[in-house]
Amino acid sequence: ADPILEVKNLHVHFETHDGTAEVINGIDFTIERGETAALVGETGCGKSVTVKSIMGLLPSATIPEGEIRYKGEDVLSLSDAERHSRRGKEMSMIMQDPMTSLNPVLTVGEQMMDVLKWQGRPRLSLSKLVRDALSTGSKAEYRRRAIEMLGEVEISAPERVFESYPVELSGGMRQRVLIAIALLSEPDLLIADEPGTALDVTTEAKVLDLLDELVEERDTSVLYITHDLGVAREVSDRINVMYAGEIVEQAPTADLFANPQHPYTRGLLESIPTLSTGIGDGIEGHLPDYTDPPAGCRFADRCPHAEPACYDAYPYPRQTGPDHATACHLFSGTPARERHESLAA
Ligand code: SF4
Ligand code: MG
Repeated sequence: ADPILEVKNLHVHFETHDGTAEVINGIDFTIERGETAALVGETGCGKSVTVKSIMGLLPSATIPEGEIRYKGEDVLSLSDAERHSRRGKEMSMIMQDPMTSLNPVLTVGEQMMDVLKWQGRPRLSLSKLVRDALSTGSKAEYRRRAIEMLGEVEISAPERVFESYPVELSGGMRQRVLIAIALLSEPDLLIADEPGTALDVTTEAKVLDLLDELVEERDTSVLYITHDLGVAREVSDRINVMYAGEIVEQAPTADLFANPQHPYTRGLLESIPTLSTGIGDGIEGHLPDYTDPPAGCRFADRCPHAEPACYDAYPYPRQTGPDHATACHLFSGTPARERHESLAA
């Protein structure tokens, strides 16, 4: 095993006027090099908070416990400047909404040139003048690479799109531009937060296929965030099912579908046919209050198998198979974290 990313016992809290919200409650997961891992769960389950913690994009949160290791290095102990430098070259992110993640007042080309000029350097605190002076490559060279990248995401008129403003492009085109921008810096880890969800189903499928091909060619590791278990099945090697700030089940994709264990996972599977309405729809009820989470299982209120003990005793993840872990009292096995720790040692 050669993990590119290891998240261990991560806790993320936010202060709210109702008290401390325990939004991420001790999650563990690993992404091996070249692997595509998915983090699946309904809106509000903590997927985006998890990826923002990895990217260092949560200034208002506290991380009372846990580790995030990227290529073995503890990213939580990095300075802001070091984090910025990892963010371009090493880790790249595709956001779910192309309209808000592209800058409306700059052309596609200007945004791409900016990435090429500033990759691998802290850029927030430098003035434009200083930044231009520091830039190494030539303008013509950057332009050529940007247009070539637009071609790679199968944009048919790359020169025209290079000169366009985001508002002049279709949703599918904007999503392709975002993928091009994310791949420009040749990241080793790509984090994709529901790419394509803003698009119609056919366009989304095309964008996902394209992304799949591009990361395959480059051997890029991917963390894929989605509410849709059907999408996760298409794109990922391994699935982590998340519920209310915890990972309730994790397994290789084929195993998870062959032998789904956690009642939440099974509920998600039953709701796959309603692709367009989203994954939570098949399961009645809603996420618990993060400022006052249950002492026992966070899913108990919605679980068809809940027993009195589920409300009191916290279901720690258990190793239910050689490469399968589930956090539910219905399943026994050795504690998964100990296995995680012995693997890492
Ligand atoms: Fe359901 Fe109990 Fe398992 Fe929680 S621990 S998922 S309430 S059976
Ligand atoms: Mg989200």
